[in-house]
Amino acid sequence: MVYSMNIFILGINGFIGNELTDRILNTTDWRVCGIDIHQNKIESLLKHTNFTFKLGDINQEKNWVYQKISEADIIIPLAAIATPKSYVENPLGVYQSVFETNIWLIKECARLKKRLIFPSTSEVYGMCTDDEFKETESNCVLGPIEKERWIYSCSKQLLDRVIWAYGHKGLPFTLFRPFNWIGASQDSVDFQTAGNVRVLPQFIGNILRSEPIYLVGGGEQRRSFTDIEDGIDALMKIIENKDGKAHGKIFNIGNKTNNYAIREIADIIIQSLKHYPDFAKLAEQAQVKAVTEKEFYGNGYQDVQQRIPDVSEIEQCLGWSPKVTLEESINKIVAHHLNTVRQKRIAEPV
Ligand code: UDP
Repeated sequence: MVYSMNIFILGINGFIGNELTDRILNTTDWRVCGIDIHQNKIESLLKHTNFTFKLGDINQEKNWVYQKISEADIIIPLAAIATPKSYVENPLGVYQSVFETNIWLIKECARLKKRLIFPSTSEVYGMCTDDEFKETESNCVLGPIEKERWIYSCSKQLLDRVIWAYGHKGLPFTLFRPFNWIGASQDSVDFQTAGNVRVLPQFIGNILRSEPIYLVGGGEQRRSFTDIEDGIDALMKIIENKDGKAHGKIFNIGNKTNNYAIREIADIIIQSLKHYPDFAKLAEQAQVKAVTEKEFYGNGYQDVQQRIPDVSEIEQCLGWSPKVTLEESINKIVAHHLNTVRQKRIAEPV
């Protein structure tokens, strides 16, 4: 049953926030209120009658945020810095944006007993060696303190534990763990963001800029890539919370049939670009080079070799399972970025 409710999303202009808001406003009568320091991805939604937006920094707008928490039925705090390069280059910034910004929001949700849907992360499992990661059983395995890469994972893990503990005191919550969600609106492929984006836009950008594609540690490490449409389907089911089945749960949200080595991803992207006559030459000239973790990310990095989700919990509780193949996702993402580049070329002819 879809009924009207107020949803407050922090970090609404991000990858998950903008896609979720688009889906909510276009398929339900739910009302959304959001805040973000940017608004480029939600521009087309700003006029929607069920949408209220504030451009600003959560930490500078605390009174407004407290007010919106008190008015909302559901709070979804999505603001975070979440790229491995930022974990090693700006660990304190990551800690502040992930831990310090969320802890006071969580405490306020707990005080008012407001329903909290919180993004944990597949990063919390760290270097767990289980064949498939299970929410209730798998260990969270992190490296030494000098490996700053783990500050994001560790911050999120502590927040998970705090939320879990508040759950015993009456906080209604659901934690969700995205496994390498991918989609066209994830990161841009332009020069400004180069080197600090997730692997798919990184590789597409490398080809478009005629730079080598670097395979960190040789590229044998594997990820289970999950299309954003599948991710949003899962979030909609969590928000709907049929028969209260999402309450007090942690859900992995990932697609284990899309488990590929990073080396294979580079190849699939190159092949995909070859289908476009105006980009085929760049794709044919693409170079793929192996680099060490230290060369690419510096001393503070440690990679995850395998990351496969067990999604039986969300399958059983909410009837969700992923549908989109990696090939479909990559074709959509590549088409989107190439289109953006073409439009830029028209707007700014050389
Ligand atoms: N990676 C790579 N070359 C790049 C960027 C990333 O080989 O230019 C690797 C990275 O070391 C990791 C994987 O690709 O093993 C996925 O990286 P991403 O940043 O997308 O996110 P992660 O899954 O590590 O959080």
